[in-house]
Amino acid sequence: MINGKEDILSLDEASLANFLENEPSYRVKQVYSWLHKGCAFEEMTNVPKALRERLEKEAVIASPSIEKKLVSKIDGTVKYLYKLYDGQCVESVIMKYEHGYTICVSSQAGCKMGCAFCASTKDGYARDLLPSEIEGQILVSQRDLWIRISNVVMMGIGEPLDNYDNVIGFLKNINSEDGLNIGLRHVSLSTCGLADRIRDLANEGLPVTLSVSLHHSNDSDRSALMPVNRRWNIDALLSACNYYFEKTGRRISFEYAVIGGVNATEEKAKALAKLLHAKLDRDMPFHVNLIPVNPVRETGFKSTRKEVDEFRATLEKCGVNATVRRRLGSDINASCGQLRRQALGESI
Ligand code: SAH
Repeated sequence: MINGKEDILSLDEASLANFLENEPSYRVKQVYSWLHKGCAFEEMTNVPKALRERLEKEAVIASPSIEKKLVSKIDGTVKYLYKLYDGQCVESVIMKYEHGYTICVSSQAGCKMGCAFCASTKDGYARDLLPSEIEGQILVSQRDLWIRISNVVMMGIGEPLDNYDNVIGFLKNINSEDGLNIGLRHVSLSTCGLADRIRDLANEGLPVTLSVSLHHSNDSDRSALMPVNRRWNIDALLSACNYYFEKTGRRISFEYAVIGGVNATEEKAKALAKLLHAKLDRDMPFHVNLIPVNPVRETGFKSTRKEVDEFRATLEKCGVNATVRRRLGSDINASCGQLRRQALGESI
């Protein structure tokens, strides 16, 4: 509920049927499919006026509104600052690849996780996003840009597994045939490593691609960079990854932000390769995605192209499949958390 009204875009089809009480199932389907096209009640032209008026009175569509939009002159990447119903702001980025459009969505306003290098956590945590507010980022972007988004990455602001129920609700809704109908194989969920929740996710039977933010290969260094490691250490995390693979058969990708002077040496690359070979199931396909660290004001972290390339070469030599993340939208601050910080009055 939002201000006493039903948060209608968050409901799955069965709950919507419940809310619509005595409406026939074809009507429920119509309303559901209008909602998940990003339409307002008054646009639901084949829905009787009386029902539209009831919806207007009793329900609310909690899609975010566009507060700011930046378009990269280099590669067409679009970044939105979205305003939620209570004034909170989050960010989304839309990137064009050969196979179509990918959106990076936010799952929380702010973040509790406290990773040392991350802009999204610097101003703390405000609240979880509702399923409607996560999906709304896709719906509003699609309508604004006149495109169909086919891939979703949950790598924006927030820790998706720390907003578990709403994220699951969101995934089920975007997967629905009467809704966006996005195959869950086209969805990547990135986590800083909430091992218990990775196990829960494995048990959901939703074949999303899991990305795990590792960034270090030993516990003392990882705990210093990522406080979550004190709760679930590397062993606990990788054993949850094995469980995820056993249950879903999906390959896992490990994110590693290369940070000069912190985790970027040849020795660190070898240690990472050794760790993954030793701890992951023999038959599990995995790869490492290297991210040149994005500078964030108070951290001083940076890396050079040479450091990243050498790190990658060492991993490959050690038999680990590694890619370097392309930097898209570098002229519009496309890396996450930066616009929200500006909106909060911070300089970056
Ligand atoms: N909370 C989730 C998803 C959001 S962050 C997670 O931690 O995975 C998405 C990715 O960007 C994560 O791998 C995160 O560690 C990384 N990241 C955050 N800040 C970064 C920075 N300044 N430079 C490079 N990567 C960063």
